[in-house]
Amino acid sequence: MTDLHPFIAGLPKAELHVHHVGSASPRIVSELAARHPSSKVPTDPEALADYFDFTDFAHFIDVYLSVVDLLRTPEDVRLLTFEIARDMARQNIRYAELTITPFSSTRRGIPEDAFMEAIEDARKSAEAEFGVVLRWCFDIPGEAGLEAADETLRLAVDVRPEGLVSFGLGGPEIGVPRPQFKPHFERAVAEGLHSVPHAGETTGPGTVWDALKELRAERIGHGISSAQDAELMAYLAENRIPLEVCPTSNIATRAVTDIELHPIRTLVSAGVLVTVNSDDPPMFGTDLNNEYAVAARLLELDERGVAGLAKGAVEASFLDQAGKDRLNNEIDTYTAQWLAK
Ligand SMILES: [Zn+2]
Repeated sequence: MTDLHPFIAGLPKAELHVHHVGSASPRIVSELAARHPSSKVPTDPEALADYFDFTDFAHFIDVYLSVVDLLRTPEDVRLLTFEIARDMARQNIRYAELTITPFSSTRRGIPEDAFMEAIEDARKSAEAEFGVVLRWCFDIPGEAGLEAADETLRLAVDVRPEGLVSFGLGGPEIGVPRPQFKPHFERAVAEGLHSVPHAGETTGPGTVWDALKELRAERIGHGISSAQDAELMAYLAENRIPLEVCPTSNIATRAVTDIELHPIRTLVSAGVLVTVNSDDPPMFGTDLNNEYAVAARLLELDERGVAGLAKGAVEASFLDQAGKDRLNNEIDTYTAQWLAK
């Protein structure tokens, strides 16, 4: 089999499921830690590499929270966001919908207007400097309950930044039933935001049905347990509701025990529009290019197949039609040139 890594690395791509704090690479964390010497986070790259070597899921949560703790000023937020775009540009990601949990920062005392200004400034600078188009998904941290949901909705609707396109729900699924957030999603959708809750990552297909019926999901974060329900897969396929699949994340969180048993094949065979994403890339030791390589291997794709995967993400994105046409053209041109070599 040909090595697809060089092809994937240069392929223009869109990413639809990637978290803001979860995208803080050791390089970025080191910069943030240097701004706050009182934090316990190491600044030395070698020590940071050890710091990012997770022993278990609880350790991952500790590190994640320590990065949240490094976001103390609007400038920290701006730096993180802008530097994420730099990392994306290096992977030839042209467009990304970045999931941000504004509640984590506003609750910690960053003024909401300054927070919005920071991400918007980063978005505009990243587009000008790196050619990476960023859009936001504001998500409810499900474990923080209805208070967090109310606040996230308020930030999304009343303090809405220009780049916001969607409304999400993250955190654990177990013990956090989706239907309790129905009023929040109804309001967000009424305000023109797209509904993109996480569902069916660590719980069964019933959670995906809840997301569809109660939260009016237009795309599902993960949704891999849909593979256990033929009727659900048929519904997703027929209504062209995409899944945001993150293979390495599923292994890291043990949602899937073995990558060879990943349901991505079943989902694709059933005609579901599957997109490939990285979730919390440096924290799971991956990036989008690696996720494409994993998916290509599992789905036995060649270059054209991988390009098809990239175009599926464009279709599933909330880009306008002109933006979709432009990115699809880039993908087609790149692939044609590659195959003519
Ligand atoms: Zn996620």
